[in-house]
Amino acid sequence: HQGLQDADPEVAAILNAELVRQQDGIELIASENITSFAVLEAQGSVLTNKYAEGLPGKRYYGGCVDVDRVETLAIERIKDVFGAAYANVQPHSGANANQAAFMALGKPGDTVLGMSLAAGGHLTHGAAPNYSGKWFNAVQYGVRAEDGFLDYEEMEQLARTHKPSIIVAGGSAYPRHIDFARFRRIADEVGAYLMVDMAHFAGLVAAGLFPSPVPHAHIVTSTTHKTLRGPRGGIVLTNDPEIAKKVNSAVFPGLQGGPLMHVIAGKAVAFGEAQGEKFKAYQTAVAENARVLAEELVTRGFDIVTGGTDCHLVLVDLRPKKVTGKIAEAALERAGITANKNAIPFDPEKPFVTSGIRLGSPAATSRGFGKEEFRTIARMIDEVLSAYGTDSQDAVEQRVHEEVKALCRRFPIYDVAYPGA
Ligand code: PLP
Repeated sequence: HQGLQDADPEVAAILNAELVRQQDGIELIASENITSFAVLEAQGSVLTNKYAEGLPGKRYYGGCVDVDRVETLAIERIKDVFGAAYANVQPHSGANANQAAFMALGKPGDTVLGMSLAAGGHLTHGAAPNYSGKWFNAVQYGVRAEDGFLDYEEMEQLARTHKPSIIVAGGSAYPRHIDFARFRRIADEVGAYLMVDMAHFAGLVAAGLFPSPVPHAHIVTSTTHKTLRGPRGGIVLTNDPEIAKKVNSAVFPGLQGGPLMHVIAGKAVAFGEAQGEKFKAYQTAVAENARVLAEELVTRGFDIVTGGTDCHLVLVDLRPKKVTGKIAEAALERAGITANKNAIPFDPEKPFVTSGIRLGSPAATSRGFGKEEFRTIARMIDEVLSAYGTDSQDAVEQRVHEEVKALCRRFPIYDVAYPGA
């Protein structure tokens, strides 16, 4: 067979360049991670060739004996990881998983109460440009102005006033524990379903380091590629047999065609990893490293939204440092550190500029960084952003970039050439 290098050197070169970028840079995007090589292998497998509409044992195509086995493995493993009675592992992404949950629990025109994007919620929780904001009557709760913590009183008051049919908990930039029992109480009071999107903190839940939404929610959705450290994709979990049936038919034929069986194989591998003791140790380090990063940044004069973190992510208010999120993202990238600009609650800047950056520990922890390396990261971030706009800016960015590369070489990832390249 012909490898990628020979078949298509142009694409091979791009993949290798991206491999080098990941090897030589510090990845702080909170929603990213570095999967095991086993997950990469499963995804790059012959399962990409297979059509398998339907569920294991009930397919609309022949030849599904092997893919049935791998999907069953993925389902059984993820049910075990989260203690859920039912799982659908077919959603192509987190957004698809959320759409499936909405389709299972409601219909267009229903009222949906979710956390606003501006306060740290996700687009798919009712934001105006998303289908969830266009096809539903979306009502949005936020965080408290005084401390950045979720505003439960506001959420409950909105629930009583608007009587939503679905309440959504979870978000993309909220760094604290969430009281899922309290969400469920108000959902029961107003006759709503509770849906929890645990995409960001799922890995911590799996390791018992973040409260589990599974006993409280009617449906729990997640991505599989963030803290959970699997291939890009989504899952839907529930304990209710009737809701499970609705979820299955919402995913297919409601929203998707053939499931991505190579991705489901990658999910099975990642879920197997999540069952192990090493995964608990990894998640413990993820949470510790995020805490150390936040503490060290506070020491260096940064403001942290809510004053700290209970999970893998830190939302930094950059205003004391007189740089915007847009400037910080670009300056850090020049120094080999990748992060994303992010609105802080009640941000005076436009969404494309922002006053904050969101930092996360999962990817760098996967390559073996510990507390010491995260203290170094905080120092480097401070150096780069303090030098911005001064005469020493270029020199500092270059020096830090060299330090980043040296640090990364001590913690190699995928120390092989790209398969086939
Ligand atoms: N839900 C949450 C909370 C997220 O943060 C994200 C992604 O950022 C998603 C859903 C969407 O996942 P995907 O990008 O796989 O569609």
